[in-house]
Amino acid sequence: MIEVQGSAPFLDDFCRALKRDVPPLAKIETIEECTISCVSEDGFVIGDSSSGNEVETLIPPDIALCHDCCRELLDPENRRFRYPFINCTNCGPRYTIVARLPYDRPFTSMHGFTMCPECAAEYHDPLDRRFHAQPNACPVCGPVLTLLDASGKLCSVSDAALETTELLKKGLIVALKGVGGFHLAVDARNDKAVSRLRERKGREAKPFAVMMRDMAVVRHFCELSEGEYAALSSAEAPIVILKKKTLEGLSPSVAPDHDRLGVMLPYSPLHTLLFNDGIDVLVMTSANFSEEPIVNENDEALLRLKSIADYFLMHDRPIFLKCDDSVTIHLSGSLRHIRRSRGYVPAPVFLRENGPVVLGTGGELKNTVALLKGTHALISQHIGDMKNFEAYRHFQHVATHLQHLFQASPELLVHDLHPGYMTTGWALKQDIPVLGVQHHHAHHASCLAENREEGPAIGIILDGTGYGIDGMIWGGEVLIGDASGAERFASFEPMPLPGGDAAVMQPWRAALGYLSRSFSTIPDLPFMKERCIEPVLELLQKRVSVYETSSCGRLFDAVAALSGMHGEISYEGEAAIQLMLAAGRTMGSSSFRYTHEEHSGRWIMKVSPIILDVVAAVQEGVSVVDISQRFHRTLVNCFEDIIRKAYQTTGIRTVVLSGGVFQNALLFETLVFELEEAGYRVLTHVLVPSNDGGISLGQAVIGRSYLAGRYRGVY
Ligand code: ZN
Ligand code: ZN
Ligand code: FE
Repeated sequence: MIEVQGSAPFLDDFCRALKRDVPPLAKIETIEECTISCVSEDGFVIGDSSSGNEVETLIPPDIALCHDCCRELLDPENRRFRYPFINCTNCGPRYTIVARLPYDRPFTSMHGFTMCPECAAEYHDPLDRRFHAQPNACPVCGPVLTLLDASGKLCSVSDAALETTELLKKGLIVALKGVGGFHLAVDARNDKAVSRLRERKGREAKPFAVMMRDMAVVRHFCELSEGEYAALSSAEAPIVILKKKTLEGLSPSVAPDHDRLGVMLPYSPLHTLLFNDGIDVLVMTSANFSEEPIVNENDEALLRLKSIADYFLMHDRPIFLKCDDSVTIHLSGSLRHIRRSRGYVPAPVFLRENGPVVLGTGGELKNTVALLKGTHALISQHIGDMKNFEAYRHFQHVATHLQHLFQASPELLVHDLHPGYMTTGWALKQDIPVLGVQHHHAHHASCLAENREEGPAIGIILDGTGYGIDGMIWGGEVLIGDASGAERFASFEPMPLPGGDAAVMQPWRAALGYLSRSFSTIPDLPFMKERCIEPVLELLQKRVSVYETSSCGRLFDAVAALSGMHGEISYEGEAAIQLMLAAGRTMGSSSFRYTHEEHSGRWIMKVSPIILDVVAAVQEGVSVVDISQRFHRTLVNCFEDIIRKAYQTTGIRTVVLSGGVFQNALLFETLVFELEEAGYRVLTHVLVPSNDGGISLGQAVIGRSYLAGRYRGVY
């Protein structure tokens, strides 16, 4: 709240300037003006933050080092020369250091550091860049960097950052305490070192993200569009997935078999120091064991990472809330989130409507939670895979912390329909009313919500796994509706999936299942060689632990395995990614056969004709490149046809695209382009991920329609 007094022209000027000359991080949502009676006052005073009951302030996200601070950091004359905790009101840690509101120093992890007179003077000077910068610090009064060896013994060095650079140059693995948690860093040019990191981390093939010194280095290795440049250099400083240009000089183990590379620029003062001393590319991967949350505490790091890291570069500023790097990709003209975390969280997603406080607990994989308060959707950072105990603990912490932080008690908890999800179990244990909503309905509502659209819309929802209202595994769905309810207009023909979850990591099992439904006699195909297929065929025949699925992700898996690509994978979705890569960014011109059949008021998009054609192509010796290009064309045509049918039935011309499969650049960009050409309004995800990281938002919005008495669910 700002009180100003003066003559009318001055006040007008002030209001204009308020909108025009905002500081870099300011975001003005609304301005409300009113006139109050004049009192005799002069001067400029900043009052205390009111700590009344209702806190309306937002907490800013963690922001990358600004240019002014970077200059000071590298200026030998400056009192913060090479000080790794330099920050100001325009940059530095925020969300990760805040314990509660109001956002004042005593409630941050800086409370243990008393500002020296010089820092205090800056903090209290309205004309200083560090005026009210809560994490303000300097070498005299602030946090200190320390270097420890693998046994946790302190190394006595005069400049820990400089020493670390030397260790990295030698090919050693260093655990670095960053903004939202620890990273494992290793020289990305050193193949032995990168391979050792892979081995120790237990991460076979999943690509590592890298940090590059500057844009010149990025341009050397990757293609860079204007939008990608802007994203990399933004204050949010996410990982941007770029197209590789050359691999020369980079370890092939960084991102094996990929045509893209996840890249970020140095975003903390510590990173800047490391890269200033002669390194240009580092692998920077979240310090965890595969699929566990990032490690954030010093003791925890020393204990859990000692088998991975050779050295630890840490400090004494605690991280209250762990937060991974955000991962983005530029597709169809916009930056899209794959993982929305540091830099973006907890900035709200603005909703079209006000409503009661509701908490969406998210799904099982790539979990996030979403708290709706007023017109704000406060969506948590990426929490991870709930099958993992550490991730579940992290989930519990974040779900309650968000409520404390924003002082909002939900009237309703919304969870996934899946009875076995940890998040469902958690919701049912709380003493708050609950609602279970269908997974793909949540995807649909999420995309509508972030676009501030009410609907109804035709939703193409494609992903790996989601529990259906009939207890089957859904994942290739066409829904028509809005947050209050949706009709299942069409879905893929259900196919048998032997072994359920086991098939996710072994696409050859999916392939056998899909064959068994498509052929009366299963043909002999090259992918079956050296695999123990008999027991699986027996399962299929006896229908023991066989699940019916309409999943689009599994269809990708099956086609990849049939084409002889990846029989087994090391992370979910790997086969689908490899199949997309095989197409080489080119959409086929001809399609496999597909048909749509109407069954009791619902369209079934037949899968078996596609499988028959794929098999025929394999038997004719058609290349994987060709098969993949044709398969992508088939999906695009199939969905364009079904959308036309939906339009003819309902008159709706708005189409929503959601679900993890839309991280497939080839499918996504072609579908968006061709649907728009055909005159549809296409709504896509920009603010939240199209994968399961986005469903908490959809769940919460559906929850509001339930509280308003409008909920009908999926039918
Ligand atoms: Zn700064
Ligand atoms: Zn100081
Ligand atoms: Fe999903």
